[in-house]
Amino acid sequence: MGGNVAENSGGPHTLKYGVTTNHVLGLEMVLPDGEIVEVGGPAEEVCGFDLVGAVVGSEGTTGIVTRAVLKLTREPQTHRTFLAVFADVDGATRAVSAIIAAGVIPGAIEMMDQLIIEAVEAAFHVGLPRDAGAVLIIELDGLGAGMDQRAEQVRTIVAASGAREVRVARDEAERAALWKARKRAFGAVGRLAPNYATQDGVVPRTRLPQILREIAAVSARYQLRIGNVFHAGDGNIHPIVLYDERDPDQVQRAIDAGRDILKACVAMGGSLSGEHGIGAEKMHEMPLLFSPDDMRVMSDLRLVFDPAGRSNPNKVIPTPGSCVEVSAPRRQVAI
Ligand SMILES: Cc1cc2nc3c(=O)[nH]c(=O)nc-3n(C[C@H](O)[C@H](O)[C@H](O)COP(=O)(O)OP(=O)(O)OC[C@H]3O[C@@H](n4cnc5c(N)ncnc54)[C@H](O)[C@@H]3O)c2cc1C
Repeated sequence: MGGNVAENSGGPHTLKYGVTTNHVLGLEMVLPDGEIVEVGGPAEEVCGFDLVGAVVGSEGTTGIVTRAVLKLTREPQTHRTFLAVFADVDGATRAVSAIIAAGVIPGAIEMMDQLIIEAVEAAFHVGLPRDAGAVLIIELDGLGAGMDQRAEQVRTIVAASGAREVRVARDEAERAALWKARKRAFGAVGRLAPNYATQDGVVPRTRLPQILREIAAVSARYQLRIGNVFHAGDGNIHPIVLYDERDPDQVQRAIDAGRDILKACVAMGGSLSGEHGIGAEKMHEMPLLFSPDDMRVMSDLRLVFDPAGRSNPNKVIPTPGSCVEVSAPRRQVAI
């Protein structure tokens, strides 16, 4: 749980239910000087600054979280889970936007592209169509009343977006099989290459077609295969860059490919991380998204909790002189 709080973790259901911060009311934490403090608490509404919001997602740089007071969310009464099959990723991304534009908010919309479908099917034989360009797993959840109408609406939208087939899970076993395919996708990637690096970036949902085209271009540029399995409903991409760590040239190309993808995300108005965090790996990319003033403010806030900089040092916010690849204004959004 501490890691979840530190990363402000998300996952397939963030589209409807939000990320960790949307479920945390209060925290107990140990400050780097040993003092035990509480921020927030069991009350839903509190006054003063939102210190819970400051700690969640701070990647361990404010202290060690030892207890979390969480909101409980009732399990949905019912689910309807679809597998929508597309000839290409463009059609699948169009369907994602069309569903949301229609005012339907599924519990989850997850996408897998051809490379990932192939790996998952080879590993787990769950019945994914191996010749598809992309599939979406769409899950509606909520009250039983009105579910049939919403399901029909989604089926119609997805078909109009170009799906060549829409399957609905007929029972809990079929639903579980679809989720097994999605949740084991990362494990299946081990069949494709000796090593892989999962990138984590975000774009506005309407930019999904562009970022996927950009990822394909990066793949060609660096001569590395890149698969995509991600939380499409949130625009939270996870390009999986395949490489062989025994070849230093491939390692460098994998690093460069990941960086190019992140730059593209930011250029499209997105972000450097949806849920895996900045850590040390992406620290030097922070200036792509934040101005020196932005980072100074974040650094000052961190010092309130950790004046000596002892908690998870040298992470997230680059220290002066340790970075700065570019000094870019915040978010150069290509309109
Ligand atoms: C294949 C793969 C898939 C993933 N999928 C998802 C996903 O769907 N959604 C998602 O959100 N993330 C995902 N992640 C990223 C990551 O695993 C999660 O964010 C996870 O919740 C981190 O928790 P952890 O316990 O593993 O933390 P760790 O990896 O152990 O730590 C993460 C950070 O939190 C800090 N930390 C750990 N414990 C505490 C504590 N008690 N107090 C303060 N700081 C602390 C650590 O110092 C570190 O900086 C994925 C990662 C991988 C490798």
